[in-house]
Amino acid sequence: MTGRDEIESLIGLMARLPGLGPRSARRAVLHLLRKRTGLMAPLASAMATVAEQARDCPICGNISTGATCEICADPARATGEICVVEDVADLWAMERGHAFKGRYHVLGGVLSALDAIGPEELGIPRLIARIQAEEIREVILALNATVEGQTTAHYIAEAIGPAGPRITSLAQGVPIGGELDYLDDGTISAALRARRSF
Ligand code: ZN
Repeated sequence: MTGRDEIESLIGLMARLPGLGPRSARRAVLHLLRKRTGLMAPLASAMATVAEQARDCPICGNISTGATCEICADPARATGEICVVEDVADLWAMERGHAFKGRYHVLGGVLSALDAIGPEELGIPRLIARIQAEEIREVILALNATVEGQTTAHYIAEAIGPAGPRITSLAQGVPIGGELDYLDDGTISAALRARRSF
């Protein structure tokens, strides 16, 4: 494969990114080609580095390039609060709001008998172990308002049990779980402040 074919192949890969179709991908690649030194080369280098080094944090499930993520590595984030989210996108959205100072637990999905996703797959036993090891006082459930999201939230609440820490959830009416990412930062902060007992 030579010449134009390689550029077409790059456009084809770019077109698979969320939010980019074939036309936007073509425009983006043309832009990169015109800024080969200033943008394309450093972008390619950064992508190669992140592709090689990125991993799931063994503690919380966030994605980062360290042995653990920067949130788990930060002693100031040991506030006794854990926010349980469905997806890394939700964690990043919460972080954009700068309202939550504790740590996270990323489930990577919700309970689903249909897809054979059980508590083990979601790291729920690991969450229970963390609650004891990290002396957690409050667990904030920031899960989707869907049936699966709420089934998962109730399962977690039961697994924690009445002797465990306080369990809260974000203010009702806030679409969360994948959609947290589309909320503005102020809305996320308000939903966190207005959290209620679960
Ligand atoms: Zn982490």
